[in-house]
Amino acid sequence: MSSSSLRDRIIEKAGLRCSTKGCTKLRVRGRLVPYCALCAKRKAKFGDPKQERVERRRLEPFVAMAKRFLRQHRSDEPVTAALATMQELLSIADEPEPPSSFPKKHASLSGKRRGQKNPAWLVWREFHRLRHPKSKFSRRGVPLGSKGGFTGESIVVPQEPVSAEEALTAALSVWIAYEIIGSSLFVNDGAPLTFLLADSVLRLRKLETNGYTRRAIAESTKHTVGQRLRDELGAFFIRATEAIRVEEAARVARKAVMRKPIEPKVRSSTSVSEQEQKQWNKLNVRSSTNEPTPPTTQEERPTNDEGGRNSLTARIREDADASRSRVSQLLARARQQASR
Ligand SMILES: [Zn+2]
Repeated sequence: MSSSSLRDRIIEKAGLRCSTKGCTKLRVRGRLVPYCALCAKRKAKFGDPKQERVERRRLEPFVAMAKRFLRQHRSDEPVTAALATMQELLSIADEPEPPSSFPKKHASLSGKRRGQKNPAWLVWREFHRLRHPKSKFSRRGVPLGSKGGFTGESIVVPQEPVSAEEALTAALSVWIAYEIIGSSLFVNDGAPLTFLLADSVLRLRKLETNGYTRRAIAESTKHTVGQRLRDELGAFFIRATEAIRVEEAARVARKAVMRKPIEPKVRSSTSVSEQEQKQWNKLNVRSSTNEPTPPTTQEERPTNDEGGRNSLTARIREDADASRSRVSQLLARARQQASR
């Protein structure tokens, strides 16, 4: 090998590079897929070597929209039809279990008796899991043993099978997200959208494990389920999103209206001064009858409406100051008592 020049070696290696544009990593040896490990994983999980995981929290606002839409339009014909379609898809689980794998070709040459997995069975397996979810086990609230240790008991939390409405909400929310912020979620609207639609439904319940790690959903299953969702419910998703856009715009407009400044309902200036004049007169009469009016108030005594209002506001301010100082005194006393 030492005889081959550096250039030859570079050329040789070039053929082993990942075929994703812009990716410079080496291919995984011994695999048919022309990708590096990361690109191969992304292709299998998300539908494209460049597609990244779409975090659940990014879909949350759209889940709320989908829920609201289905609640408000529950009795509408298209929604009923869509629910029936989804129910049909979920009832794949009620069909008899198909053979899990094909008989292996050239069986005599290999020790393994079974061949490739049957894609129909892989699909059936996921829907069966959704319709017959395993119970969760919780240790929360279980009393500890006499030595304060864990007794080994746990509370069984039964899981409801996935309903058509739950599945439709999940798939619809992905579609709304695709139409509204699709360009920031997907590298293209082919397989990545198909895969996420399938994932949204297939991940409504816990994946099964082999005891240690979760068993991944097969690429073929994601493709089949996602494509079926697009074929059978695509038209409904488009119509629903149209309606949701209008409804959400109306909600945004309503929110904007709430943010407008509110015109305070104040009595007109003349009526205010009249009222205050009356009050002022009353106060003045009282003070004049009970005690002789001090000369300062005499000076302050208004000659017109304006002055009357000014002195009244001054009075109110004084009252407020007095009550504030009283409150602070009480607080100080309470603090002293507390410290003792
Ligand atoms: Zn790569």
